Amino acid sequence: MQTIETYDFAGKKALIRVDFNVPLDENFVITDDTRMRAAVDTINKVIAEGGSPIIMSHFGRPKAGPDPKYSMCHLVSHLSELLGREVKMAPDCIGAEVQAMAKALKPGEVMLLENLRFHPEEEKGTESFAEQLAANGDCWINDAFGTAHRAHASTAVMAKFFPNDKMFGYLIESEVASLDKVLKNPQRPLTAIMGGAKVSSKITIIENLLDKVDNLILGGGMTYTFVKAHGGEVGNSICELEYLDTALAIEKKAAEKGVKIYMATDVVAADAFSPDANTQVVEASAIPEGWQGLDAGPNSIAMFKDVIENSGTILWNGPVGVFEFEKFAVGSKAVGEAIVTATSKGAFSLVGGGDSVSCVNQFGFADGVSYISTAGGALLEYLEGQVLPGVAAVRGE
Ligand code: AMP
Repeated sequence: MQTIETYDFAGKKALIRVDFNVPLDENFVITDDTRMRAAVDTINKVIAEGGSPIIMSHFGRPKAGPDPKYSMCHLVSHLSELLGREVKMAPDCIGAEVQAMAKALKPGEVMLLENLRFHPEEEKGTESFAEQLAANGDCWINDAFGTAHRAHASTAVMAKFFPNDKMFGYLIESEVASLDKVLKNPQRPLTAIMGGAKVSSKITIIENLLDKVDNLILGGGMTYTFVKAHGGEVGNSICELEYLDTALAIEKKAAEKGVKIYMATDVVAADAFSPDANTQVVEASAIPEGWQGLDAGPNSIAMFKDVIENSGTILWNGPVGVFEFEKFAVGSKAVGEAIVTATSKGAFSLVGGGDSVSCVNQFGFADGVSYISTAGGALLEYLEGQVLPGVAAVRGE
């Protein structure tokens, strides 16, 4: 398999699939350029090695064909600034004119293709469209992990036109390497902390993780489905009655596999779902009528901390309480702190999924964890054990 480190880019036109799906305000000004900055290393590597980067991305959700609102033109000047050089804007992403522009690029010259989703064939994964995209370049770099779970023309299908000239960019390479450190050969014990609101949205991930982890901390709203399944009183807590059997089945499978499950035994209950509700600490299985559990209690937090701080590898997906309200952020903050402590002692920690990433940023722990994945859907599918078309295409699987 080729890698971006060893590939010879000299004189080559390198098609780079990035994720430049950035937010814009009403004046088309970029409000968060994180995704663009994340692609700079890969683009600069091609330039440094004497190649010509041809950058392609989707942008927004144009409905039927080209729409000026979603033109990549809005991004071209910022990309020029980030790269410190002029970026040429292509009028489309395929066709004779674009091909001629691509061909004329000199080493170090950069071109941005127009929005891939101006052609419905992109999302359909149409092979002839992928072939036309491929005709613009000599090699293909996939650096868009956020769309790696989609078998679109630019994220997967075009691989077949570059059997010996396809590779990951730095971003996707580090995402995959970090996830493999957790899922394929973790330093043990491996602890996964799964939080969030509902069991139903995490069930496939939990089932897949039961084959891999030593410890599973289940927190947040899903606690109460488990408590209820054992006949506990959950008051007004979030609880999925149709998942009681699922909760018991998870516990049974965990026991069979020797996976230890840790769940809150005491919780902070509130008399309303509100930032200034009245609170009391109660047993997780004895929540009074009219009250709801919104955070882990002090005993549970101490237990979670102990498990996390003695782990070799940690995966965190989802808060263990309603962290958006300060009163109920204590548990999630403590989990973050414990992860930082474990990491400083040599553990590998990966935080992924929108809300746990928000937690880590909100509490200022970002520098203390090993890796933060911002991939969203692709990350969740990888954790579920699914093959990602954008990863498989590069690996030739
Ligand atoms: P998810 O998107 O499934 O990871 O869920 C994240 C959301 O779960 C956050 O917005 C939290 O506020 C929410 N959450 C965490 N714990 C609870 C709880 N005990 N009751 C209700 N919502 C919760």
